[in-house]
Amino acid sequence: MLLTVCVLLLLVSPTLGAPLSRPQAKPRNKVLLVSFDGFRWDYDRDVDTPNLDTMAQDGVKATYVTPPYLTITSPAHFTLLTGRYIESHGVIHNIWFNTTTQEKKQYYMTQFVDEYWDNGSLPIWITAQRQGLKAGSLHFPGTAATYKGQRVEVNQVEPRFYDYSNETEWQINIDTVMGSWFSQKDLDFVSLYFGEPDQAGHTYGPDSEERREMVKQVDRTVGYIRSTAKKHGLTDRLNIIITADHGMTTVLRKGLVKEIILSQIPGFSFRDIKFHLVDYGPSGMMLPKEGMLDKVYKALKGAHPNLHVYKKEDMPGRLHYSNHPRILPLILYADPGYVINGLFPVQNSKGEHGFDNQAMDMKPFFRAVGPDFRKNLVVGPFETVNVYPLMCHLLGITPDPNNGSLDATRNMLVSHKDTGTHEVSKRSAQSNVFIGLAAVAGFLVVIFIMVISIYKRRKDNQSNIGQLSSENKDKEEVARKQTSL
Ligand SMILES: [Zn+2]
Repeated sequence: MLLTVCVLLLLVSPTLGAPLSRPQAKPRNKVLLVSFDGFRWDYDRDVDTPNLDTMAQDGVKATYVTPPYLTITSPAHFTLLTGRYIESHGVIHNIWFNTTTQEKKQYYMTQFVDEYWDNGSLPIWITAQRQGLKAGSLHFPGTAATYKGQRVEVNQVEPRFYDYSNETEWQINIDTVMGSWFSQKDLDFVSLYFGEPDQAGHTYGPDSEERREMVKQVDRTVGYIRSTAKKHGLTDRLNIIITADHGMTTVLRKGLVKEIILSQIPGFSFRDIKFHLVDYGPSGMMLPKEGMLDKVYKALKGAHPNLHVYKKEDMPGRLHYSNHPRILPLILYADPGYVINGLFPVQNSKGEHGFDNQAMDMKPFFRAVGPDFRKNLVVGPFETVNVYPLMCHLLGITPDPNNGSLDATRNMLVSHKDTGTHEVSKRSAQSNVFIGLAAVAGFLVVIFIMVISIYKRRKDNQSNIGQLSSENKDKEEVARKQTSL
């Protein structure tokens, strides 16, 4: 009987909380991820950047962030979207290539090769959509591709010959994202890409007046992003993260340094190479012809003091650029300031990236502002693989397996947790109270029933004892009568 009562109480107890009203869950805050391609961590030091400064006061600024190696556009952006190192997500270069046919596709055309991007890692748009959220992307690398049959639902891919520098276009794109996408379509997450100041850095060099002018344009645009968010009433429910894929460094020219020209290296011949990616800045990859790997390796290794040559399996583990079948057997990279030329010097850029991600010039900037971020906080550097788990946390979605950790960015958040978790913990605290009250009530009822039943049993026992003794008296009487007979 007691057991039955307890079981009944356990079944009933959750409903004891029902008459009390549950707290209203705060709506999930939105997230905007912005990338200004090639914005080096210190680009705000020699230019007035009032809008970036205000954003830092209103939110969080990292001293710098560390991009993945290879420090180039498509691979580093896909790391932002997946939280994975490049050897883990497989978008290993800006160039798609086929070593058998010798075919190569440049950056723009590679955007449309689905199987290059859809390589086992899901970008955050798809993960968010699968969990019921709405996502959009404007010009961000990877936007055009289809992943496991899904594309980012709201998207804009730039036309083939697009002017990545036009400030009016930038403002039109921001109006689209804030007005149409976040406000009208009520998207939860948008990634937004700008192709500058990368181009200015390449063409004129990172120390040029043109680059400084472009940083001013970026700064005005940051102001425009924030004022447009305000105009659409989004300020209190939109977290804005602004970062970049890599930095930029000045290329040292002939006369200043001895350039790296592979064809001039004794013992090296392009005739021993089946396929190669060189003349793309400071990094290169090679597939030697059958049986030629050791010969090519020995010829190149140590041939130039600023050229690093590794067999794929010997690449330093910290670079996380080895363990993927697309990475070719021989990897070359140059020290900052140097580029790798094939037959003869054909590269004219004054600025380059693609160098070791430990080089300070390769580090991008990072800013964040919004309802879930603390204010006027400068944090130490962290790797950009950690941006993905941060965004998933802000959106309240379960991240896919990744190389990042929320521990790297948790200190940026208000109360060290986001509103989603906060609501969950508030709710669980409340339900704990309900369960506690129910348990106390149940306990009291059980005690009451026990007391009643003990009392009743004692009473029954007493009457039983009375009955028994009167029966015995009767028996004694009979016996006495019998013996007296
Ligand atoms: Zn880039």
